[in-house]
Formats: sequence, C-alpha cells, structure tokens
Amino acid sequence: MMIQELTRQESVNLLARMRLGRLACAHETQPYVVPIYFAYHNECLYGFSTVGQKIEWMRANPLVCVEADEVVGPEHWVTVLVFGHYEELPDTPEWAGAHTVAYTLLKQYAVWWEPAYAKTILHGIQRPLVPVFYRIHCRRITGLRQVRRRRPDRARGEAGAPRLLRTSMAVAGPIEET
Ligand SMILES: Cc1cc2nc3c(=O)[nH]c(=O)nc-3n(C[C@H](O)[C@H](O)[C@H](O)COP(=O)(O)OP(=O)(O)OC[C@H]3O[C@@H](n4cnc5c(N)ncnc54)[C@H](O)[C@@H]3O)c2cc1C
Repeated sequence: MMIQELTRQESVNLLARMRLGRLACAHETQPYVVPIYFAYHNECLYGFSTVGQKIEWMRANPLVCVEADEVVGPEHWVTVLVFGHYEELPDTPEWAGAHTVAYTLLKQYAVWWEPAYAKTILHGIQRPLVPVFYRIHCRRITGLRQVRRRRPDRARGEAGAPRLLRTSMAVAGPIEET
C-alpha cells in the first residue's frame, strides 16, 4: 500500500469534477459536519442552502473545512481537503456578479436546489425555507491518494501485513458480538 500526496493542481482538478462533499463548521468547541453539494470555480466552492444551523454557525465563525473523496475500496481512494472561509452571496445588486456565478455553476445539475430546499419537519415544526447562495474561499487545499499495488506473492517471500498488525490481530482474536 502506498499513500501519495497530490499536487495542488491535481487536487483542484479533482474538486472541479467532484460534487459531493462534507462541510465542517464549528461553534465554540463543537464541530458540525453535513453532506453538501458544491461546484468548484476559481479557488472557490459554490453552494446553495437554506438558513439553518450550518449557515448560522458559519455566519458566526466563517472558518470551515470541506472534505470530498472518491473511494473505490480500502486500497484505492483519493481525498481532498479544503481549508477555507465562508462568504454569503446576498441577492442584492452589489453581489449580482457572484450570485450569477453561483447560480450558473449549480444549475448545471438536475434538481440542484432539492437537498437544500426540501420540506423538512424537525421536532414537529416545519423548517422555514430561506434560500442562501454562498462560496467558500479555498485558502489551503491538500489531497491524498492511495494507489493499489500488486498483492504480495508469499511463494516469492514477499511480506503481507506488517508484523505489528499481525501480532495485534492475534492478541485481539476474533471480534465477537456483545
Ligand atoms: C447527498 C446530500 C447532499 C446534500 N446537499 C445539500 C446542499 O447542497 N445544500 C444543503 O443546504 N443541504 C444539503 N444536504 C442536506 C444537508 O446535509 C443538511 O441536512 C441540511 O442542509 C440541513 O442542515 P442545517 O445545518 O441547516 O440543519 P438544521 O435544519 O438547522 O438541522 C437541525 C439539526 O438536524 C440535524 N441534521 C441536520 N442535517 C443533518 C443530516 N444531513 N444528517 C443528520 N442530522 C442532520 C442536526 O442535528 C442539526 O442540529 C444534502 C444532503 C445529502 C445527503
């Protein structure tokens, strides 16, 4: 197994073709992570939401982290992390340019508004639907990929799992239901 660092350009290329990410924001010491759709353009991730916990938390603390990945299997995956800051794009004349960019990017996808704008009932109360376009400025982007390597050929004396893992698995024994 080998984990390789992606170049910034490789990470950006992946972000440009990925759509689904996990957005992490924080209030005081409490982190909060939710799945979101995004569209990458020009060092920013653009998204659509309605006002709720994540928007309120990002308004109060705009520092966020977004994770996106393509996982084929435990030995074949790529992940990208964006450390950035949240900026809301109000529907006003002075924000018209950025607002149009967000709308143009997101509307390429069918029912792009749906996960954000779906009727939601929480604790018996219907959540108000106040639309918000936003972008996340990508301050730092990192990417990692694990590349699949040929299975070890024991007949040729090639090693399997590291000795440390083999030992700890032997000590732990089989997992039993409790
Ligand atoms: C594949 C996918 C794509 C999505 N894309 C978007 C998107 O582009 N834009 C968007 O706004 N939303 C999207 N959603 C929905 C999103 O994950 C949130 O559920 C939604 O945005 C509400 O978040 P909020 O912070 O406003 O929650 P609120 O409505 O304020 O939530 C209140 C409470 O509900 C719980 N909660 C909220 N969301 C979730 C969740 N997903 N899972 C479990 N518990 C939850 C939390 O405990 C939270 O404290 C997507 C969901 C999925 C599965």
